[in-house]
Amino acid sequence: MILGDNHDVVSAEKRFSGIGVSSGIALARAFVRNNFFVEPDKYIIDDVAKDDEISRLENSIEVTKEQIESLKNQVREAASSKGEENIFDAHLLVLEDKVVLDEVRRNVREDNLNIEYAFYGTMSNYIEALRKIDDRYLRERVVDIEDVMRRVLRNLSSGEKAEHSARHPHVLVVPELTPSDTAQMDHSLVQGFATEVGSYTSHAAIIARSLGLPAVVGINRFCEQVHTGDQLLIDGYNGVVVINPSTSTISEYELLKKEKDKLSKGLEKFIDKEAETKDGREITLSANIEFAYESDLAKNNGAKGVGLFRTEFFYMNASSAPNEEEQFQTYSEVAKGVDPDSVIIRTLDIGGDKLSENPVKAELNPFLGWRGIRVSLCRPEIFKAQLRAILRAASSARIGIMFPMISTLDELKRAKELLNEAENELINEGVVYQRPAEIGAMIEVPSAALIADQLAKEVDFFSVGTNDLVQYTMAVDRINEKVSDLYQPLNPAVVRLLRETISAGHDAGIWVGVCGEMASDLYFTPLLIGLGFDELSVGAPRVPAIKYAIRSLDYNVCKSMAEDALSDISPDQILERCKKIALDSYPELIG
Ligand code: PEP
Ligand code: MG
Repeated sequence: MILGDNHDVVSAEKRFSGIGVSSGIALARAFVRNNFFVEPDKYIIDDVAKDDEISRLENSIEVTKEQIESLKNQVREAASSKGEENIFDAHLLVLEDKVVLDEVRRNVREDNLNIEYAFYGTMSNYIEALRKIDDRYLRERVVDIEDVMRRVLRNLSSGEKAEHSARHPHVLVVPELTPSDTAQMDHSLVQGFATEVGSYTSHAAIIARSLGLPAVVGINRFCEQVHTGDQLLIDGYNGVVVINPSTSTISEYELLKKEKDKLSKGLEKFIDKEAETKDGREITLSANIEFAYESDLAKNNGAKGVGLFRTEFFYMNASSAPNEEEQFQTYSEVAKGVDPDSVIIRTLDIGGDKLSENPVKAELNPFLGWRGIRVSLCRPEIFKAQLRAILRAASSARIGIMFPMISTLDELKRAKELLNEAENELINEGVVYQRPAEIGAMIEVPSAALIADQLAKEVDFFSVGTNDLVQYTMAVDRINEKVSDLYQPLNPAVVRLLRETISAGHDAGIWVGVCGEMASDLYFTPLLIGLGFDELSVGAPRVPAIKYAIRSLDYNVCKSMAEDALSDISPDQILERCKKIALDSYPELIG
């Protein structure tokens, strides 16, 4: 068995399709976390713990009864009450159902199940059976019973923090994975994830790819259909998820996994090689990372340093902004991890879909709102703590810095002024520091691409954030699947902006890279190389394949294709050109 642990597969398999946003195959037990309710984890307890577990449930039931009685009194006392409080009698009856409670005790005594799961499992079976009965009154009672069950489970976990993640390897199932979920999850246990909402460029998808975790998003009403403890197979290549896969499905996937593993093994021999086209054009191929520990992944996959270190993610778990010292330690650690190559630190880019816990109240249009450099310029104390940390870390490592979401020349100038101020503070305090080796601007907004000639005079490089550049050029929310057909990286408008940015950068003598997800797509590599990008920065696990692709391409062929593509009138035409070269050059990667 190469695919995870296969427990007793008894139920019939069920297949679902969604969008595969991170390739790979995972097989593990599901851990389902609803926005409103966390299905309890299932585990085996020691014999000696059984009595304690059962009395925990009994206590929790007593507490629940008291809460329901008090709710009943509140409703009765309400002036407008017309006997609605009687609904709570039905709730109290559920808590006295001897058949259910005996079954729960039996699960604990005979099967050594933890009490949360024993209670949850028994109640769920009961609910499932009621749902199937052809009696409207009984079916409607399901809602009451679920309500009571959740209340008991909440009381069982009160006093401790509710179990937020499983304690064993699992596939995480959630309606939507927020960036803070991804920051909180135990990366050593999560084998992959499946969500109801999401898109290829949502941050959850980006993180899945950068950690090499198979992921499928956009599976309609999935959370209702899978339960914690079900075996779950995630096929991130084809966007398929299978609940309780049969033995023949597992064998089929074992074969696919073997094939893919063979391909990755083959790519390993290029890890130490340069990312250079067949006719000698050298490309800097670096990695995008979100967490400090990924610097090892970058190195082990043969990346030339880190081209984008997103720094918002360590703000996610914290109740306040991280202090200068904490940031200094993290930046130094990452820089040490990729030494002698460099790391480009992107200053804070909260807002958009990256920080739902933004202290500012929710905006109607977050992607067009207070985000990226706009926040940093309004919060100089937070921004300067970050700049000081970067300047200090640069004293002993090769560190670059870049500013996100630049839309005007003035913003870029003000960001640089604050960098100077932070530097002067350190000089006055006698603190050791160094100017970053390179200062760059991200080109993610069409206005920035159109004034790239003016911006170029202020910086040492441009890094194009295509995830945002595409959404702002096409006026299409990058995480809204309803308009995803308009999210067109190869739209002639986007391709022209890329070309303009490169020309402006090169005319000013600075290098130009791409750190958006376009750089990770093997079909787009011929176009990006042909347009003249000097650097591509991609999720670390993607580095070997992109390096292989670059080494299989001829720059001059790509260049003339890109020139022709600039006169194309549709994304499909451009894609056809790209596909042709990709298939001629590295069919084994995409065929
Ligand atoms: C981008 O917009 O392409 C980018 C790299 O930044 P982010 O995805 O973090 O917005
Ligand atoms: Mg961006």
